[in-house]
Amino acid sequence: MDRIYGDYEEFERLSSKVATWCSEFLNGLSGRTVAVVSPPDLPRVPLSEEGVGFDEAFGEFERSIAPWLSGSCGPRFLGYVTGGATPAAQLGDWIVSSVDQNVAIPGDSIATKVELQTIEWLRQLFELPDTFHGVMTTGASASNLLGVLAGRERAGEDIGVNISEVGLSPLKIKVFAGTPHSSTLKALSIAGIGKAGMIQVPCYQGTEEIDVGALESELRQYEDHGKIVIASAGTVTGTDFDDLATISKLCREHNAWLHVDGAFGLFSRLIQDKHYLTEGIEFADSITTDCHKWLNVPYDCGVFFTKHPEVQKKILGITASYTEVQSTLPAFMDMGVEMSRRFRALPVWMALKAYGISEHRKIVKRNCHLANMLASWIENSKCYKLLCPSKLNVVLFRTVPGKCDSDKLLEKLNQGGKIFLTPGVWQRERGIRVAFSNWSTTEEDVDLLCTLLQGANN
Ligand SMILES: *Cc1c(COP(=O)(O)O)cnc(C)c1O
Repeated sequence: MDRIYGDYEEFERLSSKVATWCSEFLNGLSGRTVAVVSPPDLPRVPLSEEGVGFDEAFGEFERSIAPWLSGSCGPRFLGYVTGGATPAAQLGDWIVSSVDQNVAIPGDSIATKVELQTIEWLRQLFELPDTFHGVMTTGASASNLLGVLAGRERAGEDIGVNISEVGLSPLKIKVFAGTPHSSTLKALSIAGIGKAGMIQVPCYQGTEEIDVGALESELRQYEDHGKIVIASAGTVTGTDFDDLATISKLCREHNAWLHVDGAFGLFSRLIQDKHYLTEGIEFADSITTDCHKWLNVPYDCGVFFTKHPEVQKKILGITASYTEVQSTLPAFMDMGVEMSRRFRALPVWMALKAYGISEHRKIVKRNCHLANMLASWIENSKCYKLLCPSKLNVVLFRTVPGKCDSDKLLEKLNQGGKIFLTPGVWQRERGIRVAFSNWSTTEEDVDLLCTLLQGANN
C-alpha cells in the first residue's frame, strides 16, 4: 500500500513523465521500426513479493519493453485495417483511465449520457436514421456477435422458440452470407448456430458481392427456418459491398434479420460519391462498425447499432438487486456482452467534438486517394500486377511470374521495418494487401512504399 500512496502523491510528476515519453514516442514514429517481427523474450523474472514503485517499473518498461514496440500507430503500418489514433482520441482515452467510470448502469455518472450522445453523433456522421439505437463494444467482432445473437433470437421467435430461455436444441436456423468476415464465423460458433449453420451464397463472378438472385433462391428453400442474412458493407479484401437495398427487400419478404458488417466500409458514407455503396442500409436490423479502425480512435472500440433494443435486452438484460436503479436511461450492460464496462465512448466523443465530420471525412478521402495512387503505380509497374481493382482504401497485388514470390517478398518488406503489409487472397490467388486507414499516412509514405517495392523485386 505504501508505494501506492507514494505514487499517488506524486501523480502529477509521474504523469508528466509519461506525457513526455508519449510525445517523444509519437514524434519518433517516423524513425521507429514499423513492425517488430521478432521481439526478444522478456527477462524471465518471477513476480516479486515487494513492488518497486512506478518510477522503477517505468524504467524497466523503457528498457525492456519500449524499444520493441511497433510503430503500428504511425503512417506506414498498412496491415489489416489498423488506423491510428488522433491526438484528441488519445487524450480522451487517457482521461478514461484516470476517471475510471464504469458505464454499466446509469444513475452514478454522466457517462451514460455521453455514450448516448456519442452514438447519436456517430449516427449523424453515418447519416443513419434515428430508429437505430447503439452500444459501444470492444470492436467489430463483438458487434458481429451481437448481430448474430439478436438475429438468432428473432429467428427463434419466428418459429416459436424463446432461445434465451430454452436454448438452441429445438432449433432450425440458417445464416446466409456471401463473403462473411472471419469474425462472423467466430460469432456463429459462439452463438451455438455453428459454422455449419451458414449457407455460403455465391457471389457475382470476380467479386466478393453476394449474388442477390442466388440469395433469393436460398431464402426460398428455407421458408420454414428462422433466417439471418449477414451482408457486407466493405469486404476486407475486395472492399465489395452487398446490394443492401435489394437484400433488405428480400429480408422483409422472407422474414430474415438483416445484419450489416460495416466495420470500416460504413465510413464510405462520409464520401458523397460513395454513398450509393451503402444505399438501403437504413433498412437493416443491425449494423456493425469499428471506431478503432477508420475513426482513428485507440484500441479497442467498436459500436453496434440496432433497431431492436428490446431484443438486445431480452438476450443480455440481467436483473440483480445490487444493480437496480431508477432511471429512464438505458443500462448499457443490458445491451452488450460485458457487465462492467470501460468508458469507451469518451475518446470517440472527444474525437468527434475536436475534429467534426469534415476532418474525419478528409482522413477517409485521403486514404482512398492514397490507395488509388498506389494502385496506379502498380498498374504501370513491370514487376507487379493488381489482383483486383482498388475501389476504396485497399490495394491487392502480386508479383509477376518469374519474379520473387509474393509471400517471400512480403516477408522481406516487413523484416525491413520501414513498412508493414499483410497477405491477402483474391479468388484463390495469393497476394499482398495494403490497407490505408491511418490519419497520418501521406503521399510520401506511398512514394516510399513504391521505392521499396521497386527495389525489392528487381
Ligand atoms: C476488422 C473487421 C472485423 C473484426 O473487427 P475487430 O474490430 O477486429 O474485432 C469484422 N468485419 C470486418 C469487415 C472487419 O474489417
